[in-house]
Amino acid sequence: MSSPADCVFCKIRDQEIPSVIIYEDGISFVIRDIEPKAPIHLLVIPKEHFTRLVGLSPEFYETLGAMFTVAQEMARRESIADSGYRLVINQGGDAGQQVDHLHLHVLGGGPLGGMG
Ligand code: AMP
Repeated sequence: MSSPADCVFCKIRDQEIPSVIIYEDGISFVIRDIEPKAPIHLLVIPKEHFTRLVGLSPEFYETLGAMFTVAQEMARRESIADSGYRLVINQGGDAGQQVDHLHLHVLGGGPLGGMG
C-alpha cells in the first residue's frame, strides 16, 4: 500500500517526477500512460491521494463524477469519442493494480478486443 510520500502519481502531481500533464483542473489531471496498452492510453488521476474505491466517503462521489466527465472530454479531444473507447479502474491484486492511487484508464484509438 503506497502512501502519498512514495506515490508516483503524487510525485507527478507535485512535479517531483517529470511528466507531461495534458489536462488539469482543480480536481484531477491527465497524463499519457508510460506503457500504453492501446494506441491512445490516458490516465485520469485525482489530485487527492485515494487508494481504492472501497471505503470512499460520499464526499468523494463528486470527484469520481468529475473524473468521468474529464474522461469524456479527453475522448473528444483525442478524437475517439465516436469510434469508441474503454474506461478501466483496476482495484487490487487480481486486477493487476500497480499504482495504489485511484485512477481511470482511458483506452482507445483502435480495436481493443473483447473482455473475455
Ligand atoms: P494500474 O495497473 O491500474 O495501477 O495502472 C497504473 C498505470 O500507471 C500503468 O498502466 C503504468 O504503465 C502507468 N504508469 C506508471 N508510472 C507511470 C509514469 N511515470 N507515467 C505514466 N504512466 C505511468
